[in-house]
Amino acid sequence: MRLCMIGAGHVGLVSGACFADIGNEVICVDVDGEKIDKLKKGSIPFFEPGLEELVRKNAGEGRLSFTTDLEKGVKESGIIFIAVGTPPRENGEADLSYVEEVSRRIAASMEEYKIVVEKSTVPVKTGEWVRRTIRSHNIHHVDFDVVSNPEFLREGSAVYDFIHPDRIVIGVESERAERTMRELYEPLKSPLIVTDIKSAEIIKHASNSFLALKISYINAIANICERVGADVEKVSQGMGLDKRIGRSFLKAGIGYGGSCFPKDVAAFVRIAEESGYDFELLKVTEKINHGQIEQFLRKIKESLWILNNKTIGVLGLAFKPDTDDVREAPSLKIIEQLQAEGAKVKAFDPVATETSRAVLKDVEYCANPYEVAGGSDCLLILTEWEEFKSLDFKRIKSLLKHPLIIDGRNLYEPQKFKDLGFTYIGVGR
Ligand code: NAD
Repeated sequence: MRLCMIGAGHVGLVSGACFADIGNEVICVDVDGEKIDKLKKGSIPFFEPGLEELVRKNAGEGRLSFTTDLEKGVKESGIIFIAVGTPPRENGEADLSYVEEVSRRIAASMEEYKIVVEKSTVPVKTGEWVRRTIRSHNIHHVDFDVVSNPEFLREGSAVYDFIHPDRIVIGVESERAERTMRELYEPLKSPLIVTDIKSAEIIKHASNSFLALKISYINAIANICERVGADVEKVSQGMGLDKRIGRSFLKAGIGYGGSCFPKDVAAFVRIAEESGYDFELLKVTEKINHGQIEQFLRKIKESLWILNNKTIGVLGLAFKPDTDDVREAPSLKIIEQLQAEGAKVKAFDPVATETSRAVLKDVEYCANPYEVAGGSDCLLILTEWEEFKSLDFKRIKSLLKHPLIIDGRNLYEPQKFKDLGFTYIGVGR
């Protein structure tokens, strides 16, 4: 099939490359000319394991191409995916201006039947707005269908997730669109849920909010564990082995971040409000999440007292491992607070240094964890990168001014660090 992917970001580029890899012809469109030029040269604009190889292979074999020309992309394709950003507005609402603009431009470029698919995460009823927008700018009066097909991939394992999804959700209004979408996804051999458009839109917000809720739940349990002297890691294990609960997203720490959970929870609260429902459960989820950062900062202050002129070493900047994405990363908020109190920050991340540099000023970016430890008053663990598990901690201890580790991700075994002579502070243990 011939597909057009509008928005060549974390979702659009991965989806485009994967669709090409299963035999489709895909044109990726983006307004960012620099990004498109890079992609044409085979260079990937962000870090995502396995993506560069996939893009090069499919571009080389002629199934994947890149352009800034939306009209061309639409004219040459039968299915048009909208995968542009839907960032949060100040009141928490999703900003749908990119979706609206793209819908208008798609409409004006359509000269024959098209399926227009919402891939971006959008509030319920956006499908209706997309349809109305296309209808009113449909200058050639062609037939079209709108489909909702939310994406569930995770940054860091996006290629794998796209090819091996737990489920594919398709919200449709016509048999014709359903047939085509089923055919498109057939090679993935994955469970397919076909619904109306509004239900599909809600499935995405409800899923992300539920995962955020699970994280806040275990963080609330961690707070109780800290007060009574229990170990949240054991509690989480004991809960998670119950199949009805499950182990994933039961990891206590400094809270969720990234480009999805914070904005999607806030947007779902607003969607509920507009429908006349006060989604208190999600408001508390957000409150607990913000509280985790405050508590972490409190632990730093309780250990070091005055932060002015202290040097704080930070391991991990990305909002989670295996990505260079620092959007809404807890590390940013923590570092900004430390700097506001006069602390000097040295930091290392295996891949997110460049993305951090663009937003975090006055940080001394180091080449490795040992450079971070050198002369620091303590070491903070802010992202659970696998490689941080096996550092030479004797060396780290000899480099730190004080053998103090405050672990925001419970990456280590407290007893091991006590045995090594560290003061070790985790979350909920
Ligand atoms: P992103 O910022 O990485 O990419 C969005 C891209 O859209 C950018 O390259 C931008 O230049 C482009 N764009 C903006 N306006 C455009 C226009 N008018 N025409 C063409 N291109 C345009 O964003 P993302 O992380 O890929 O997220 C996209 C959507 O997918 C969001 O709604 C997000 O919530 C959702 N989503 C993201 C993830 C994730 O892990 N990042 C997972 C599932 C769903």
